[in-house]
Amino acid sequence: MSNYNKVTDDVVKKLVAICGEKYVTTSEPLRHSYMAKGIMGLEAELPEVIVRPENAEQVSKILILANENLCPVTPAAGGLSGGFALPAIQPGGIYMDMTRMDKMTVDTENRVMVVEPGVKSGDAWRIFKTQYPDWAPPIPDGAPPAATVLGDAIERGFSLVTGVYGPQADMIMGLEVVLPTGEIFHTGSWALPGAKPFYRWGVGPNPDGLFLGSQGSMGIITKCAIKMVPHPHFKTVVAYGGESWDDVVKPAWEISKHEMGIGERTVMVQGGNYELVMTRWPKTNVPTDYEFYKKIGVDKKWMNYEVWAWTQEELDFTLKGIDKIYKDYEVREKRTTPQQQLHPKQIASRLKKPNKIAVPYSLWQAGFLFITWYCPWLESSAMMEEYCAAMAEYGFPETMWVASIDHARQAIVMPILCFDSTAPGIYDKIREFNLETTRSFLKKGWLNYRPDPFVHAPETFSKAKEYYKMLVKFRKVLDPNLILHPGRLAIPWESVSDLPNPCKE
Ligand SMILES: Cc1cc2nc3c(=O)[nH]c(=O)nc-3n(C[C@H](O)[C@H](O)[C@H](O)COP(=O)(O)OP(=O)(O)OC[C@H]3O[C@@H](n4cnc5c(N)ncnc54)[C@H](O)[C@@H]3O)c2cc1C
Repeated sequence: MSNYNKVTDDVVKKLVAICGEKYVTTSEPLRHSYMAKGIMGLEAELPEVIVRPENAEQVSKILILANENLCPVTPAAGGLSGGFALPAIQPGGIYMDMTRMDKMTVDTENRVMVVEPGVKSGDAWRIFKTQYPDWAPPIPDGAPPAATVLGDAIERGFSLVTGVYGPQADMIMGLEVVLPTGEIFHTGSWALPGAKPFYRWGVGPNPDGLFLGSQGSMGIITKCAIKMVPHPHFKTVVAYGGESWDDVVKPAWEISKHEMGIGERTVMVQGGNYELVMTRWPKTNVPTDYEFYKKIGVDKKWMNYEVWAWTQEELDFTLKGIDKIYKDYEVREKRTTPQQQLHPKQIASRLKKPNKIAVPYSLWQAGFLFITWYCPWLESSAMMEEYCAAMAEYGFPETMWVASIDHARQAIVMPILCFDSTAPGIYDKIREFNLETTRSFLKKGWLNYRPDPFVHAPETFSKAKEYYKMLVKFRKVLDPNLILHPGRLAIPWESVSDLPNPCKE
């Protein structure tokens, strides 16, 4: 399958010479401790050595060494994209833990912050809260505080203001990248020595897109300039319920599509169903029939609007506007979409950043997996209907979450598979579920945004053949020996799939 070499004692010695003894380890328990984080991706291989570089020069030297010895390298920041920040194939090779590089600078004049890969969301939020209270760093809304600003941007994740500003990668103003060959270069206006990262499109065609969404397979980012956003302090969260997915998706589209006025203040628009509440508790401790949730005032489905405004007047204006759109929808469509009575504690926990709302899904049955798809906003109802039906068929609770990206231009749809990780055959069942839904969704033109290398990537690229061929060409220019995170994005193809290789057709 692959021709990668194992990490030898000689390679380990050279890594120690580059980074220092303290920052290189082959300890088995420590290597396993990095693996214990899989939540977004289930397949992962054990790395052979962990190395923790201090700067771009050390990263460059490690990559040159890896090329000389043909050892795979996997970069990781917080590691909270789960198996996605771990080797996809054997041998596991060098795991490059970037967390030692954790400098952050803030430029309020140009409204840009520069972060190294180790800057954690929790730390960025805390520093802004105390030192720059009128600004907010673009951190993932629901990821644990140890997730990094850069990791989320690389993943093109959803930030706390994604409803207005789009995916996290849209906020990037420039990158410092170490290519797999060891060369270091900058993108955007940063490419001109001495220039500030003020203009993303910089000195020529901008190759940023090759690195964002590449899952660490095109280059190692050692610095990124990213927009920070204004942080007004008149805030609240309102929610409206409904019986069907259309009842939550259509009014949200009405609110978001005007973009200015009301839509510019609904920074996070996200919804789901009552199973989201149920699966945040141990399975044996809570009722599973809807009647119980109805009694405690939870609608079957709902949409939340987190609103930020500069004044109380502006906040009231926005809430009134949202309410009017719901009332009009009820009359026009003859539906019932009542405003939900949120407890102040529910509002406070939503407004807390980074919030930890997503963490308790492990309580249901220990295992949980987030699967993430993008589709045009109004098509998300159909996707959620189909996902829920498939989850019911496969015996998973129908736990479903959806959020607006960039004024409901796109939806990010995320089923949360809660499962018993000790049940025999459970991982095969999940893969079957993933395959069946993936094949159906690709036919409809919907895209998985964090592709699993064994299911989503080969299935997608088997259809998007021209794109895959181009991707392989770019990859070979940047990484002739394909040492960087091999398997990700199904490159090399044979390392993760038995399907026909699009490059050979
Ligand atoms: C409970 C929970 C809730 C979550 N909620 C959210 C949420 O609200 N919004 C959201 O967007 N995501 C969410 N996530 C997903 C995940 O936490 C985020 O995408 C996260 O920010 C990833 O950052 P990280 O630092 O953990 O990156 P990692 O997992 O370390 O890396 C992400 C990817 O980038 C690659 N990579 C890492 N560093 C580099 C580098 N320097 N150069 C090149 N490639 C690199 C890795 O190989 C990997 O493929 C959640 C995850 C969990 C577990």
